[in-house]
Order: sequence, then C-alpha cells, then structure tokens
Amino acid sequence: MPTLFEKIIAREIPADIVHEDDLCIAFRDIHPQAPVHVLLVPKKPIVNLYDASADDQSLLGHLLATAPRIAERLGLGDAFRLNINNGTGAGQTVFHLHLHILGGRPFAWPPG
Ligand code: 5GP
Repeated sequence: MPTLFEKIIAREIPADIVHEDDLCIAFRDIHPQAPVHVLLVPKKPIVNLYDASADDQSLLGHLLATAPRIAERLGLGDAFRLNINNGTGAGQTVFHLHLHILGGRPFAWPPG
C-alpha cells in the first residue's frame, strides 16, 4: 500500500511542489503551521529515522544538505526550523520519513 507521499511523488495526488531531484521531493504542507511550511520527503519510502538503516546515510545527508537550499530559495535566508516527528508518540501521522521546513515567523523554544 503506497504512502500518501508516494502518491504525491507519483503525481496521483496533487501538491504544490517546490523542489524535486533524483532522491527527494519537497512540497507545501496542506495545513501550514508557519508562513512557509514545506515537507521534504525522500523518494525511498523509509518509515522514519528510527527505521532508517546504515545504507540510508548518504540519503539522509542529502536531505539535510537540500533543506537549507530550499529555505533560501523560499526567502527564509538562514532563519528556518527543521522538524522530524518520529513515531506516533512524537506526532508522526504520515509514515514516510519527512522533514518539516518551517519559517517566516518567530519560533519558541522549547517546542510545544
Ligand atoms: P507528521 O504529522 O507525520 O509529522 O506530518 C505530516 C504532515 O503531512 C502534516 O503536517 C500534514 O498537514 C501533512 N499532510 C497530510 N496530508 C497531506 C496532503 O494530502 N498534502 C500535503 N501537501 N500535506 C499533507
């Protein structure tokens, strides 16, 4: 059963795509929590960081290296927050790894 994000990657569900390369895709969250709220998703359907393997290290590095470039292109400069909800207890609702890229407003610490 493909994940929601696999369906977006396959263009079976529409999304506002802001970046795509061989390894990942980024699109705007349907329920934005900030003026800029993008989900950065590997094309490989890894469930979450806990489920990732040693083989995924370069892919995970690619995601981290790509996020700032997307943030910059969307006008956030160096002010953005990356968030990964890992597991149901931490708020994960879509079980296909994704980084939330958030920006365009002040953020509190600690997070809620
Ligand atoms: P999680 O809670 O798993 O960390 O994040 C899942 C995110 O996916 C949520 O922020 C939610 O708003 C977003 N989302 C859920 N369904 C869709 C959809 O159909 N399209 C888009 N673009 N985002 C979605």
